[in-house]
Amino acid sequence: MSKLTGSKKATQFTESVIREMTRLNDLHGGVNLSQGFPDFPAPQLIKDVACQAIQDDINQYAVTWGARPLREAVAREFTRRYGLPVVADEQVTVCCGSTEAMMSTMMAVIDPGDEVVIFEPFYENYGPDAILSGATPRYVTLREPDWSFDPAELAAAFNNKTKAIILNTPNNPTGKVFRREELEMIAALCRKWDAIAISDEIYEHIFYDGHRHVPIATIEGMAERTVTINGLSKTYSVTGWRVGWTISPPSLTGAIRKVHDFLTVGAAAPLQEAGAAALGLPDQYYVDLAAKYQRLRDMLLGILERHHFTCYKPYGAYYIMTDISGFGVRDDVEFARVLVKEVGVAAVPGSSFYKDPARGRTKLRFCYCKREQTLLEADRRLGKLAAILPQPLRT
Ligand code: GLN
Repeated sequence: MSKLTGSKKATQFTESVIREMTRLNDLHGGVNLSQGFPDFPAPQLIKDVACQAIQDDINQYAVTWGARPLREAVAREFTRRYGLPVVADEQVTVCCGSTEAMMSTMMAVIDPGDEVVIFEPFYENYGPDAILSGATPRYVTLREPDWSFDPAELAAAFNNKTKAIILNTPNNPTGKVFRREELEMIAALCRKWDAIAISDEIYEHIFYDGHRHVPIATIEGMAERTVTINGLSKTYSVTGWRVGWTISPPSLTGAIRKVHDFLTVGAAAPLQEAGAAALGLPDQYYVDLAAKYQRLRDMLLGILERHHFTCYKPYGAYYIMTDISGFGVRDDVEFARVLVKEVGVAAVPGSSFYKDPARGRTKLRFCYCKREQTLLEADRRLGKLAAILPQPLRT
C-alpha cells in the first residue's frame, strides 16, 4: 500500500464540523449561527493596547510560557476572584488559544492506554484531543432537559487507568453550569482515583439567572490536581487572536510548558500585552457582558421557539441546543445543510457533539454571540423553513 497517506491518528477523526459549517455559510452567504464567534467589536481599550504594542516594537518572541504581564494578570485575577493563590512563574502558561492549551495539557499528561472521562455531549475538539494524545475516552452522558448526569454512571467511568476527566463549565454545547455539589462529586472521584481535572473554563464570565461559575480548582484538594484552561477569546470577543492559557499545579507545569514550547513556541507577543490590559478591565465589564448575552439568549430563544424548534434553555456560555424531531427530521447533518443552503442560516449538527453520531441526530446547536440585527435577520430567514421542509426531510 502507498505510504502517501495520512497517519493512523489522522484518519481516526474528521475535519471540524463547526468550522466546516462556517465555510459552508460563507459559500451560501448565510447568517452564521454555527461557529461561536462574536460579530461585534472587541473593547476599544484592548485594541488600542494591541496596536500600541506593535508600534512599540513588541514584535519578537515573548517568553515561551507567556509574557510576564499577562501571566501575572492571569494569576492575580484568579486569586482575586476565587481566593486561590496562583504563582505566575510556577503555574501559568500562555498558549495559542485554549485549543492549544487543551492539546498541550493532554499531550503533557496522557500516556497511551490512559483513560480520560469526558461528559457527552462535548465540545468537538475533545475527541481529536483524546486521539492525538493517545487517551482512551470514557463517555458519561449529560441528559436533557437539564443536562444532569447519573452519579453512578460517573463513578463507574473511573478506575485505576483513569488519568483525567475533561470538564467544561459553563458548558458548550448545552449551556449547563455545573453546580458546586456536582463538582464536589467529580472532585471526590478525582481524589479517590488520583486523577487530574482538566477544566475548560473559557465561558467563565458568561452565566445567567443567578447561576455562578465555580472553578473545580477551588474545591477542597483539587488545586493540586486541576489544570484550568481559559483564554481571551470569549470574554473579550477576540477569538481570532489565539491567546489562551493554563493554570496548573507546579508538578504539571514543566511537562505542559515543554509540549507547548515545541508545538508553537508561543502566542503572539503584542496580543499578550493587550491581554494583560484586558484582564485589568473593571468588574462592571463582566457584569455587562453576562447581561448582554442574557438578552441575546432570550431573543434567540424566542426566535427559535417561534419557528418550532424545541429549545433547552442555557444558563451559561452562548449556545442553544435544540431538538428538531418535531420537524419529523431524521438526519441533523442533512437538516443543517438544507438550513444553510435554502434558508440561509448556519447551525451545527448535534451529532458532532456525540461519540455515536446517532445520539445527536435530532439535535442542532445555534449560537447567539451576535448583534441583535444578525439575530433578527436569522428570524426573517427562518420564516422560509416551513415551506422548504416538507421534502425531502419530512417523513
Ligand atoms: N468554541 C466555538 C464553538 O464551539 C468554536 C471554537 C473554534 O472553532 N475554535 O463554536
